[in-house]
Amino acid sequence: AQEDRPPANLTADQLLDGLFTAEFSYRSCRSRYEFAGYHKKSSHKPSPYLLAKLRKQEALQKRCGPGTAAHKKALRRLKSGEGAATDAEDDGCRYLVNISFRGLGNRMLAVASAFLYAVLTERVLLVHWGKKDVADLFCEPFPHATWVLPRAGWRSPLRKLDDYDGESKMSLGNMLQSSAVGVSADGNVSWASPRTPPYVYLHLSGGYGYHDKLFYCGTHQRLLRDVPWLLMRTDSYMVPGLFLTPLFIEELEAMFPEKDAAFYHVGRYLFHPSNAVWHAVTSYYRSNLAGASRRVGIQIRVFQEKQPPQQVLEQLLSCVRDEKLLPVPEIKTANDTSSSNAVLVTSLSSWYYERLKDEYDGRLADGGVHQPSHEGEQRWGDAAHDMKALSEMYLLSTCDVLVTSGFSTFGYVAQGLGGLQPWVMPRIPSWDEWKEGQAAPEPPCRRALSVEPCFHSPSYYDCAARRDVELDKVKPYIRRCVDVSWGIKLV
Ligand code: GDP
Repeated sequence: AQEDRPPANLTADQLLDGLFTAEFSYRSCRSRYEFAGYHKKSSHKPSPYLLAKLRKQEALQKRCGPGTAAHKKALRRLKSGEGAATDAEDDGCRYLVNISFRGLGNRMLAVASAFLYAVLTERVLLVHWGKKDVADLFCEPFPHATWVLPRAGWRSPLRKLDDYDGESKMSLGNMLQSSAVGVSADGNVSWASPRTPPYVYLHLSGGYGYHDKLFYCGTHQRLLRDVPWLLMRTDSYMVPGLFLTPLFIEELEAMFPEKDAAFYHVGRYLFHPSNAVWHAVTSYYRSNLAGASRRVGIQIRVFQEKQPPQQVLEQLLSCVRDEKLLPVPEIKTANDTSSSNAVLVTSLSSWYYERLKDEYDGRLADGGVHQPSHEGEQRWGDAAHDMKALSEMYLLSTCDVLVTSGFSTFGYVAQGLGGLQPWVMPRIPSWDEWKEGQAAPEPPCRRALSVEPCFHSPSYYDCAARRDVELDKVKPYIRRCVDVSWGIKLV
């Protein structure tokens, strides 16, 4: 059908200044070319170097991805336990499998990080989404290729990916402590056997240990270079860590002259909500938000119901008041029609929305107070639940102003996609801490230093100096996060 061809005459805006090409059909994935229409015109342009790297990655995904002869051969070698191909056999196809887990925000940050790592190491990225189907949520990001890891055959190391953990014998950390790896006096590492192993598991989830953290060292990256398959388990936005890994710094600085726009570009390049999710986003937007001249997004994430709701509400109201995020009633006059504000609330609970409606609806927020869903609690393996979460992240990203709950990767994705520097509310004391006399955070919220997500589990180890260092003193563009004191972010 005519409509199913790639659309002609796409503008630079629709292609996000060259982030994507016009190779996809419009109908297969409406969000790809419509995204720009719902977001402010970008002030950050992707660098030509980044665009060149993206095109190179696309070619690699197409040449080596599932369905190609190269991929079949690589699977065969993996299953039979053969290590890296000899130079004569080598077709340049190496793979990175992202093992995703936790909530949607965590997964998206992890996939974005894995993608950048794949680009840096010239590997094909394949995504394992666990029991869920990634295609319910996202379109394919690479033209003429799939990023979905196909079902693995019996006895393949790719068979039970969710079982890999810090105890796995093929983890980098455990291999470094075994006879598989030789360590020289100057700290260089090499495989003990002349052939590299067929695969290595990278255990990079929070709470990982010293040996797994050596992933962020130049010498260990060299060790991994020829391994045909890497399996990576992480729930974090690792990109600031990659900016601290000697082998990658130069490349990353060239790809992202504006360091604080890394997720902004990668997230917009990689994630395109499926037609069903996009339909939910755009119809909700048109019915509830489009009429307002200014949209204020409020994301309230209460972790494990341990925080008293009344205190969370007061923190939010003080933040909105102190930072003048909504007009004050006394100042607004009856004939002031110059601007109208709509408030978009996202939360698992409807309680905050009800209170905000009492406080603001019809008075200050003439565009109304809106909440698309209140799911009650976080659910796993539920496609409809995830689709709501994703559509709300995208709705938040269309706002002009954002207030988010600290620590939440859900909020990070929204701010990153929208290019918004949110006001972040630090996590308030739990009931117990409250009883012990802890006070509410002061100020109630602080402006994030950049739109970038925070990396919650960095390695503090400086491989060259062989000691821990203050990570926010190494590079001018890496700082501590306002919401997570041990986390770092690009600014
Ligand atoms: P984090 O736990 O805040 O870092 O964010 P994640 O996205 O990783 O996990 C939280 C999950 O809880 C989400 O993916 C949703 O499934 C659910 N959730 C949390 N907050 C909201 C919300 O405001 N709206 C919806 N629809 N779901 C939410």
